[in-house]
Amino acid sequence: MSIDKLVGLQETDTKLKDLSDLLGDLPAKVEELNHQEQSIKDSLVSNKERLKELEVEIHKREVDVTQVNDKISKLKDQLFLVTNNKQYDALMTEIDHRKDKRSSFESESIDFLEEKETLTASVTKMESELDNLTNDLSERRLKLESSISESAEEKKELDDLRSAQLVGVDESTMLIYDKVQIHRNGIAVVEISGGACGGCGAHVPPQVITEVRAKEGLHRCGVCGRYLFNNTKLDN
Ligand SMILES: [Zn+2]
Repeated sequence: MSIDKLVGLQETDTKLKDLSDLLGDLPAKVEELNHQEQSIKDSLVSNKERLKELEVEIHKREVDVTQVNDKISKLKDQLFLVTNNKQYDALMTEIDHRKDKRSSFESESIDFLEEKETLTASVTKMESELDNLTNDLSERRLKLESSISESAEEKKELDDLRSAQLVGVDESTMLIYDKVQIHRNGIAVVEISGGACGGCGAHVPPQVITEVRAKEGLHRCGVCGRYLFNNTKLDN
């Protein structure tokens, strides 16, 4: 296998990397904003459901208090009709019992009203957050979409070219190539320049340089592991 194949592959990969760098962190940012938007939406739904429940509970307590008040005033009316102390005490106990009930309804009602107030404020805040987020998001989505569509055609051409370049490259070479790319910032093939590796600057033995020039087999830098080529030969 000729080093020329790897040189071509590296050129294509570098162009592909430049294309994806153009998009920068935009795709990740859009995804993060989408996630935030969804989580605020979910919270809003559950908060609004709770607000509805609270309305129901608050109304229920109002009805309960009214009913207890009616009952108490009826009991008080009966006080005028009692004929002995025993009846009187029994009525008073009943009235006290109703009053206890009333104050427990009232204190529940206060708790619900407080919760409603807090929740309403938080819903208002979330709605404005969501508004800002949605504006920000739609701007970024537009930017992302236009960047993607601008580069889509070029990316397709490069992907096709890459597939064609991969034909005839053996698997073990590709494994090393991929590994070196990952560890060496996307560059797995470099030119020898001034007797040194063009990637890390390490000295390359003259014998290796001769073989690289003659394209005898594949050679890698002993230090950084990148594949080596020599341009003067390639230009022939
Ligand atoms: Zn090197």
